[in-house]
Amino acid sequence: MSNRTPCCIPDCRRTSADPFYEWICPKHWALLTKNERRVWARHKREARRFGQPIRLEAYNRTWQSLKRRISLGSSLNAPVS
Ligand SMILES: [Zn+2]
Repeated sequence: MSNRTPCCIPDCRRTSADPFYEWICPKHWALLTKNERRVWARHKREARRFGQPIRLEAYNRTWQSLKRRISLGSSLNAPVS
């Protein structure tokens, strides 16, 4: 199990077989809005095209805010608009 990546949302026990630095499981990912997922998809596309995130600060900030959104959403069980 040591080389599996756990979902980075607290209390979630899902893991991924891929060696991500951090990972959000599909169940938690589904809690995000279409718009939030689209913002992240744009970062991912840039990172893939250039081989690395070209706006690392924005990339990291987006990831942190997605995580915070999911954590809040899952504990309060209500979407933050
Ligand atoms: Zn999860």
